[in-house]
Amino acid sequence: IIILGIETSCDETSAAVVVNGRRVLSNIIATQVNLHAEYGGVVPELASRKHVEAIIPVIDKACREAGVELKELDAVGVTYGPGLVGALLVGLSAAKAIAFALGKPLIGVNHIDGHICANYIAHEELEPPFICLVASGGHSHIVNVVDYKKTVVLGRTRDDAAGEAFDKIARVLGLGYPGGPKVEKKALEGNPEAFNFPRVKFKDSPYDFSFSGLKTAVINTVHQLEQKNEKIPVEDICASFQKAVVDVLVENTVEAAVNAKSQKVCIAGGVSANTFLRQSLEKACSEAGIELFYPPLGLCTDNAAMIASAAYFSYVEKDFAPECLNAIPGLDLGER
Ligand code: ATP
Ligand code: MG
Ligand code: FE
Repeated sequence: IIILGIETSCDETSAAVVVNGRRVLSNIIATQVNLHAEYGGVVPELASRKHVEAIIPVIDKACREAGVELKELDAVGVTYGPGLVGALLVGLSAAKAIAFALGKPLIGVNHIDGHICANYIAHEELEPPFICLVASGGHSHIVNVVDYKKTVVLGRTRDDAAGEAFDKIARVLGLGYPGGPKVEKKALEGNPEAFNFPRVKFKDSPYDFSFSGLKTAVINTVHQLEQKNEKIPVEDICASFQKAVVDVLVENTVEAAVNAKSQKVCIAGGVSANTFLRQSLEKACSEAGIELFYPPLGLCTDNAAMIASAAYFSYVEKDFAPECLNAIPGLDLGER
């Protein structure tokens, strides 16, 4: 089964051709990061316009690189939420047009489901059930992946997402956008014990997260140092902040896996590209007798291969979308 995947939920225009949900023939990503860097974050209207320019060339390139003609496709899978509505609509319109012209099924994909499915591409033998930590620019979830198409959210952030916190801290420290990789790099030269930033734990829902207090604590620290005209120890702040985020991500994820008696943990989303997170989780999982899976860096952030993979698991259940499929900016996991 050959599926064309299309992803335009945020600031990456991406198209991919994937066989049976696991074998990637092509995965083209046109990123707009330089365009938005100037503003310190994604500007929705600019993103939509860039998607319009890029979408057809990106789809063309994905098919050419895969050596697949449109008529050889079995279905078209597309992200229809969550994301920026204008951005989503570009990919969705293209997917609908191609599916309709070919007379092939259209499959709507939840972007967060897509992030989880990146793990199926990376690990041919991986099967559910497993516990997945999804940490991205807009989401921080702990998910029980019961089956390919069945997910139960065990915990989520009550305010900021982990990636969002990385981006905001980077902005305050003048490191630029996107913040994750930049904070990670600075943290390598800093002392993670230099500052004791808060770690939030909820008694009633032990797998939930909160990162806004941490963000405020870091911002206050920076402002206090500025007022005293002291030099900002950027490396130490990055290292201490990163450790605070990673500590709670790791603790909650491992606790969820242990309580669910799950022997497998996966990570997904942009923050799962973070080496310190991978190393810390690797250590905690091995101590708990749990096997850890993660996608290669290129499949952690937004890409269409993961969307084509998720679409495949809908295809096998003949779970097709109607022609009137609309974008749902606030689509939740497990919702449709
Ligand atoms: P969502 O998937 O929730 O809709 P998104 O698609 O914008 O949001 P992703 O593309 O999955 O998010 O991930 C981007 C986020 O990942 C950004 O917040 C970025 O700072 C963060 N990120 C990327 N690389 C790293 C890294 N090495 N360390 C920490 N964070 C990172
Ligand atoms: Mg992005
Ligand atoms: Fe994403």
